[in-house]
Amino acid sequence: MSRKVALQELESAVHQAFESCRHIEGGQNAHYIPYLANVDPSLFGISLCSTDGHIISVGNTDYRLGIESVSKVPTAILVLRQLGAEALLQKIGADATGLPFNSIFAILLENHRPSTPLVNAGAISACSLVQPTGNPEKKWQAIVENMTDLMGSAPKLIDELYRSESTTNFENRSIAWLLKDYGRIYDDPELSLDLYTRQCSLGVTAEQLAVCASTIANDGTNPVTGKPLFDAALSPKILSLMASVGFYQHSGDWLYSTGLPAKTGVGGAIIGVVPGLFGICAFAPPLDDAGNSVKAQAALRFVMEQLDLNVFSNAAVELER
Ligand code: GLN
Repeated sequence: MSRKVALQELESAVHQAFESCRHIEGGQNAHYIPYLANVDPSLFGISLCSTDGHIISVGNTDYRLGIESVSKVPTAILVLRQLGAEALLQKIGADATGLPFNSIFAILLENHRPSTPLVNAGAISACSLVQPTGNPEKKWQAIVENMTDLMGSAPKLIDELYRSESTTNFENRSIAWLLKDYGRIYDDPELSLDLYTRQCSLGVTAEQLAVCASTIANDGTNPVTGKPLFDAALSPKILSLMASVGFYQHSGDWLYSTGLPAKTGVGGAIIGVVPGLFGICAFAPPLDDAGNSVKAQAALRFVMEQLDLNVFSNAAVELER
């Protein structure tokens, strides 16, 4: 017998999470990217999109936030769509690093491999793999179109954020050239770095990200537009990447305490996926020491506990339709 979760339960969990977490203090905005350092730290929102396309939103869910590392998920999906699961494993890898998102040490430890598309090294490598090779305009178009399909509406570049990141991304530049030396950049390194920086600077809302997460929960079909985007067999691959490294050096602690495969970004957003049920995004700018939003973590943890959900549990749970 499977337990059914009604839309009202989802609604009440999201609203309660918002009320109970809104006064949580702690953390600080990403200080190494000037634009993000100046974003209002009191912004807070939660959006949930069920796999039958209902959206529940509370707080600042239409604020255009910097997607940052959450963009690593859509671009990993694009590489999976264009080249397949085996190519991603061989060319980038699917390993947890247990280290910060910009770790050069992680590349050396993994025998000169970028490890996973969900840390900076693997994400730059993923941008280098996006087809068509050697054509920056068409590659950018593919990245944006893929993201638009996943979210059901288009992201918009935040020019000031892009400038802010482009003039300060020296570590990422070192990573790109180191990977080039190890044969792990499959296009021009500067072009790949620029695509990565630009995709991190895309402005999206929590609501758009919840729809993107729900597309993963819904076996590759966007639940709002109804458009089929990728093979259902890819969803578990994406979730395994998110589960193993979505919170960088805190990934194990997060998974242990919530049972929710999720991915963070230094813009303050976190997306989470409960297969078959919903995708969710919580957003608040102040971050912990690993670059994961403090308040968004608390909100997602609250929702999972409130609904008694855990992807590692053997309890069968389905949406009441
Ligand atoms: N653009 C940021 C960087 O490369 C993204 C990091 C993140 O969100 N964890 O440093």
